[in-house]
Amino acid sequence: MIQKVVIFDRDNTLIKDKGYTYKTRDLKFLPQTIRSIKFLSKNNVKMFIVTNQSGIAKGFFSLKDLKKFHSYINKRLSKYKVKINGFLFCPHHKDGVIKKFSFQCKCRKPENLLIEKVKKKFKKKANIVMFGDKISDRKAAKKSKIKFFYRKKNFFDQIKSVYKNHL
Ligand SMILES: [Mg+2]
Ligand SMILES: [Zn+2]
Repeated sequence: MIQKVVIFDRDNTLIKDKGYTYKTRDLKFLPQTIRSIKFLSKNNVKMFIVTNQSGIAKGFFSLKDLKKFHSYINKRLSKYKVKINGFLFCPHHKDGVIKKFSFQCKCRKPENLLIEKVKKKFKKKANIVMFGDKISDRKAAKKSKIKFFYRKKNFFDQIKSVYKNHL
């Protein structure tokens, strides 16, 4: 069977972007997000987040902070018996201050290394689509030849329609 997969950008696609969001108390799911994740989960769709988190290179928060925040996202989702299957993030930035993360990488969107990593998990036996809010999300998806959709206000209807027509 062909696995159905959705890749989500994180900030302003699934959760509210407070600007370098990493504190658990700042986690706020955008409207219709949980409903949409529940729908996809019920239909056996695997879900991944692919996100740029240059706040790590810039020294605003640590790798540990980010991992904690991502576990907290799944903890909140666990109340609804759903989860994000994987969090792939780019901690880099070419103008960062934390040396080991400060270089021009291949994973910061619009680059597509993280999307390729998701693809690799399924060895081509997957239908994958991506949702995001920025042109860099779209460019990354296009590089990986994946269908891309900008998150719409009516996210739940959009998810149902994309599921029906493209997965
Ligand atoms: Mg975003
Ligand atoms: Zn990177």
